[in-house]
Amino acid sequence: MANVSLKHIYKVYPNGTKAVNDFNMEIQDKEFIVFVGPSGCGKSTTLRMIAGLEDISAGELKIGDLIVNDMEPKDRDIAMVFQNYALYPHMTVYDNIAFGLKLRKLPKDEIHNKVVEAAEILGITDYLNKKPKEMSGGQRQRVALGRAIVREPKVMLLDEPLSNLDAKLRTQMRAEISKLHTKLQTTFIYVTHDQVEAMTMGTRIVVMKDGFVQQIDTPKNLYNYPANKFVAGFIGTPQMNFFEGTLLKTGENVSIRFEGSEAEITVPYSMLYKAKPAYLDGKTKVCIGLRPEDASLTDEKANGGNSVIKVKVSHKEELGSETLIYGDINLENDSYGESSTRIIIKDSGERELQAGDVINVALNLNRVHLFDKETEQCVLPRIPEYNYLDCEVKSGKLRFLGAELDLPSAAQCPDLKGDLLIPTDAVTFDGNLKAEVVSREHMCGVNLLSLTLNGKRLYAVSHDCDEGKAIDGAGSTVNIGIDFKKITIISDGEKVLTPMPALNQFACSFVKRKSVEEVEESGKTKKKKRIRFGFTVGENFFEASEENSQKIFAALGIKKAFTTGLKMECGAYDLTVSDSGIAASVMEALDYGSEKFLKCSVGENVVYVKCSEDISGDIRLLPDFGKVGVVETQREIKII
Ligand code: ADP
Repeated sequence: MANVSLKHIYKVYPNGTKAVNDFNMEIQDKEFIVFVGPSGCGKSTTLRMIAGLEDISAGELKIGDLIVNDMEPKDRDIAMVFQNYALYPHMTVYDNIAFGLKLRKLPKDEIHNKVVEAAEILGITDYLNKKPKEMSGGQRQRVALGRAIVREPKVMLLDEPLSNLDAKLRTQMRAEISKLHTKLQTTFIYVTHDQVEAMTMGTRIVVMKDGFVQQIDTPKNLYNYPANKFVAGFIGTPQMNFFEGTLLKTGENVSIRFEGSEAEITVPYSMLYKAKPAYLDGKTKVCIGLRPEDASLTDEKANGGNSVIKVKVSHKEELGSETLIYGDINLENDSYGESSTRIIIKDSGERELQAGDVINVALNLNRVHLFDKETEQCVLPRIPEYNYLDCEVKSGKLRFLGAELDLPSAAQCPDLKGDLLIPTDAVTFDGNLKAEVVSREHMCGVNLLSLTLNGKRLYAVSHDCDEGKAIDGAGSTVNIGIDFKKITIISDGEKVLTPMPALNQFACSFVKRKSVEEVEESGKTKKKKRIRFGFTVGENFFEASEENSQKIFAALGIKKAFTTGLKMECGAYDLTVSDSGIAASVMEALDYGSEKFLKCSVGENVVYVKCSEDISGDIRLLPDFGKVGVVETQREIKII
């Protein structure tokens, strides 16, 4: 039983293939995690790094409280089950299961008890004296599972264990592995390319593509709230229908138009509050996603027509309990094959349909998904990043949503009318504006607060710790303010005010320094050579901690560690003005009201530093090495 923590894990194979990029996840004890994605997406590589069968190029892997990056697989307290069972053909089932325990020199009767117990759990007691070749695929995989569970590992790793089995047996073994997980109360990490396997077994699923994590969530959330078009299409059979379209806001409604057809539906604007207004101009192309079960045959009048589109039937597939109707929303099309206007509808199959029939299909408006055409990211994220608002600046005052705030000196703008972008995490809970809480939802580790300010919608995210007791629930009032260093104001297409960058970056190198130090030994002063490793930024040398030096060597190797281009990253709060350190020159003192910062030049870089007093001229800056990140510039790998 153990947590598994993956922080900024990368895998670059010697041939340069970047198989895993910046994998971050905290796996809780006893979770059943499934890594899923198409072939080559990096799921096995990630699992093999956890197992210790593959070196980790950069990042930190913890099992329980221990960093295991350099620990041998046998010492990691894990057990692994592979697709090909990896049994010893000449040994009986009993000996196969007992093998690892014998190697560990456990007493004979203890081994016997464990083998018998595992065989009972897996229903293979009658086969203990048989050899693997006398058994079916499913039975062999049970033996492999038995061999893993007798080790009582902290973490069970399973790499496509059911891929060699036929469909029926796979379904049965799926249920058995889930039961086994409940019985063993151990952390399971399971790799599969099969989304049905992932959905039915995982407590949380990691969807991967091209070496990048796309989304980590529960099966239900992945299905209902896919973060992008890839996840939407990967999860669910038959696949989600995708169409190109546009959104046009008129009054309190938005019409969703389907390209290449006459189809159009209308939804209340309240369903699209979280969308960036630019999507609602009737011109910007979006991708409309609709699951086959969210479309149903209907009588147009019964639904008032708002959610009804016309579909020309092409053919159908009877699946017994349901029928898949294939059709096209372009009534000119008779498409049997792929077409950008093709639709699949999951139906009960009661109505007789012929090819060429034009039917009315009602779409479940609450379940229409929208994605950006270019980035493929969800247009209606569960947690919106920004509030997009109209604003006016007049004589140093910012007006938005019927409220007025004094702009601090660092955020001064000329008089204008324009757009204001307030990140949802820039709404603070210590200001003078009174907002009403409409709803408060806990998701993805934060609270999303839907507020109204003078009757108009504003989203805010908060962590339980920064709310304190300030926020009750729906219907309560809360005092809010704006973190001005995070906002953007746009007028006539030009950014008049931009946020203070969240990260400072400096070029740096990793170096070795030899020094001779005088040490006292038995009353005598002796000279001793010492080698120190550290980072240089400009002229400055900062000694690296042992842990950080090891991370650099592990990621770059001994030779390349000293010649690879690196950059140091830290926030404005991670630098302090000091007597020694990196030479900087103050360009501007920034007063954001409740906080002050200095904008400085360091060589060719501009950096921001938190500072409580106004300072000018030349200063020195000390980074807080507990918080500084180090990135290898060429491959963009975060090493520390
Ligand atoms: P998956 O398990 O998702 O099918 P893998 O983790 O096996 O994918 O592979 C991820 C990527 O890394 C693929 O592009 C694959 O070709 C590449 N890869 C895997 N093993 C090696 C290796 N030993 N050397 C070089 N590239 C590899």
